[in-house]
Amino acid sequence: MHHFRYVSHKLHCEDVDLAAVAQLHGTPTYVYSAQTITDNYRRLAASLTGLDLRICYAMKANSNLAVLRHFANLGAAFDLVSGGELRRVLAAGGRAQDSVFAGVGKTEAEIQLALEAGVYGFHVESEPELARINHVAGQLGRKAPIAIRINPNVDAKTHAKITTGKSENKFGIPLTVAAEAYAAAAKYPHLQLRGVQMHIGSQLTTVAPFVEAVEKVLPFVQQLKRDYGIQYFSVGGGLGIVYQDALASGAQAWWDAQPAGERPLTPEVYGAALKPLLAPLGLKILLEPGRFLVGNSGVLLSRVEYLKRGSGKNFLILDAAMNDLVRPAMYDAYHELVPLVRDTARPALKADIVGPICESGDCFAKDRTLQQLGEGEYVAFLSAGAYGYTMASRYNTRAMAAEVLVSGARFELVNARESFETMVAGEKIPGFLKT
Ligand SMILES: *Cc1c(COP(=O)(O)O)cnc(C)c1O
Repeated sequence: MHHFRYVSHKLHCEDVDLAAVAQLHGTPTYVYSAQTITDNYRRLAASLTGLDLRICYAMKANSNLAVLRHFANLGAAFDLVSGGELRRVLAAGGRAQDSVFAGVGKTEAEIQLALEAGVYGFHVESEPELARINHVAGQLGRKAPIAIRINPNVDAKTHAKITTGKSENKFGIPLTVAAEAYAAAAKYPHLQLRGVQMHIGSQLTTVAPFVEAVEKVLPFVQQLKRDYGIQYFSVGGGLGIVYQDALASGAQAWWDAQPAGERPLTPEVYGAALKPLLAPLGLKILLEPGRFLVGNSGVLLSRVEYLKRGSGKNFLILDAAMNDLVRPAMYDAYHELVPLVRDTARPALKADIVGPICESGDCFAKDRTLQQLGEGEYVAFLSAGAYGYTMASRYNTRAMAAEVLVSGARFELVNARESFETMVAGEKIPGFLKT
């Protein structure tokens, strides 16, 4: 469930009229609903009550400092994947000591930063990484807490670019050699074996792959607890969300309307399936959800620049582009597009929804039907809160979008639109080109 709905035909985020935000701060602008994040967080936590649970929000989904602070206020820790993300946690006032550091390519500098911040666990993806973390910890006179990422070789049945738990993916260590990896890790003097980790992919819409993966690694996790006294099992993230969301009725009503066998995954289904498997372990359970917590909490506001009528094809040309929201171009992702002012009296318009970038791939949707729209009117891409702004680029020298956070009737700019000056601040023309 989310807090975007029409009030008198005007799309609102909580109690804020989004057209007012677009007029005040311009477009493209991301807008996030604090209450939606709160609801998602509490709902997920509630679905796993009874476990010794820690939710480490996978901040690569949306790492705006205000969003991170909101998560910290809710009691969340963080799943981070770079030194930059760690610095964001610290800058937002988040608890690095409860957070975990993932990723296949941690540099020495990043490892040092994470050791100094006292992260709860390094999620190790290879044997050379064990050696490197041990080396850096030794130099600092510390013991690094680690968990090895197990690749259970389970098909997450999601998009090829976001599946991570198959043996052909670059992630983790195969279950077949995981025991050797732990034995090797135990020999390093500056490592402490604190946990075990897995993450099989993103945007999973059925619970079966999660269950299969947990069942597959469970005996090994029990073995690790006996042999090394590990404290935690991180089951990763990956809970999918509903992108095809009939806004008029809200996500829950849409979900209820689906035939029972075709309903997408909910935290309740996820929790009910995993709790009986995880509870008997007697370990701390870490969850690393990203998309589920923030995906439906955000929209991308955009302005219609032109309606170009072609022969047999219309193009609605927006001021947002693939650099602002890359998911459709990169993952063939679907995003709902709705007008900020709904007018049911208008005729329908069928058009390709495109941005201004010089790439055929700069297309958000093909043959989408929505109400007739024209220059200067505003639209919103729904469910753009995850992997939206964080994957944005400056391609075509387009500035990074603005970001706004809403809470009730209040809203505040939490990231100013980038200026040309800051975009080129690091660039210079070398002396040898100056004639
Ligand atoms: C990306 C990632 C997540 C979060 O994935 P979501 O699909 O956004 O929940 C969690 N854990 C790891 C290790 C990741 O790489």
